[in-house]
Amino acid sequence: MPDTVPPSATALLDAIRGVVGERGLLVGEADTAAYTEDWRRLYRGRTPAVIRPANTDELSRVMRLCAAARAPIVPQGGNTSMVGGATPAEDGSAFVLSLSRMARIRDIDPLDLTMTLEAGVTLKAAQNAASDAGCLLPLSISSEGTAQVGGVLATNAGGNNTVRYGNARDLVLGLEVVLPDGAVWNGLRRLRKDNTG
Ligand SMILES: Cc1cc2nc3c(=O)[nH]c(=O)nc-3n(C[C@H](O)[C@H](O)[C@H](O)COP(=O)(O)OP(=O)(O)OC[C@H]3O[C@@H](n4cnc5c(N)ncnc54)[C@H](O)[C@@H]3O)c2cc1C
Repeated sequence: MPDTVPPSATALLDAIRGVVGERGLLVGEADTAAYTEDWRRLYRGRTPAVIRPANTDELSRVMRLCAAARAPIVPQGGNTSMVGGATPAEDGSAFVLSLSRMARIRDIDPLDLTMTLEAGVTLKAAQNAASDAGCLLPLSISSEGTAQVGGVLATNAGGNNTVRYGNARDLVLGLEVVLPDGAVWNGLRRLRKDNTG
């Protein structure tokens, strides 16, 4: 059943709350302040709310609602990047979309040497999970306790082992992507050989 298009900002917020629940929505200066300033404290913006979906379905429905209302969103992972890309603008028009509740390790396969992670898994948690399975996730940066998988892929993070193992995106075989209109593109692949067009 598709979510209907809300007629006003309050209705949009109510509709988003209906998808993510009270736990998935932060409103008000006190609760949103940590999400509206960048790590270096060079940029500070404003937002009507921080949206925190718990899974792909919730995220897809939120994106559909925001697209229909033409409401801008700014994705945010661990908020450790240096260029203000995860900070909403000062005009307060954009929602912050925090992926931090999507932090499940869906699968680890030591035979394939693959793991399937949600965007909000911290890099450190991913490294630990790989290590527990007898594997190595070689991506390593000083912010790994806070930076999240979605953020490291969006920024194509480098770090201590880049010369030997490559940047973040060199370690990716497939992606599941929620597109701006809310559609889910399933490109999760584990096969190293993929010569599709
Ligand atoms: C102490 C310290 C050391 C660092 N060392 C390194 C280093 O060695 N190498 C390096 O490359 N960087 C380094 N960084 C920078 C930073 O940690 C990386 O850029 C990291 O990849 C950012 O991840 P994040 O989850 O914090 O992303 P955020 O800062 O939250 O977001 C970064 C960008 O990605 C977008 N984004 C976040 N999540 C998603 C998502 N799920 N889908 C789509 N877009 C998304 C945001 O909108 C934003 O534009 C360091 C930072 C600190 C504080």
